[in-house]
Amino acid sequence: MLIDHLTAPSPVRPMPLFPEGLLVRRCFDCGDLGFEVTVEGEYKECWRKKMGAEHNEASPAGLVLSRSVADLVRRKVTIEPHLFYVARQLAAGTSEKPVERDRLIEGNFTFSKSPMRLFHRAIETLRSVWLLPVGSRKESPDGYWIITDAEDFAAWVARARSAPITQLTTIHRVARRNFPLFAEQLELEFWRDLGPQNTEVPQCSIS
Ligand SMILES: [Zn+2]
Repeated sequence: MLIDHLTAPSPVRPMPLFPEGLLVRRCFDCGDLGFEVTVEGEYKECWRKKMGAEHNEASPAGLVLSRSVADLVRRKVTIEPHLFYVARQLAAGTSEKPVERDRLIEGNFTFSKSPMRLFHRAIETLRSVWLLPVGSRKESPDGYWIITDAEDFAAWVARARSAPITQLTTIHRVARRNFPLFAEQLELEFWRDLGPQNTEVPQCSIS
């Protein structure tokens, strides 16, 4: 038909040199985090990324971990390499696919006489000192991961508050650091729980 002849042919696009979506190999130096922690506990930027090598961006959980470690450096808190290895494994988990507790214990704590206790202490330190939103769930899919969205965090807080696995102060500090809007909501709940007679400010705000 005539109309076909009048339509301009679609322009042929040259093949891009680096097509978008092409997989970049996972960085062997930093596992795509963009940094590592040396055995001496020092923060070190990934040398490959620094040199401008092709490098993936960190995952959302990786970014949360990166912010937490940068904060430790700023607060001059010693970074315990062992804790960092555990945190890095947690960053590989998600709410849908958490890292199983036994795997974490077998991979990191069997050197100790009481691996379970040491494991729980590590998770507690990651929450209370590193201010990492470490999610945990006993029901399937059970395990541990680093929380990256507010909804998931709210669900974890509901679980954590019903079973005293984590102190309210820690929950609040982690919320303030990572999910400030949710922290405000928690503060409102504190006020409501305190009732109209009590006008004292809840003692849980630590910057
Ligand atoms: Zn790297």
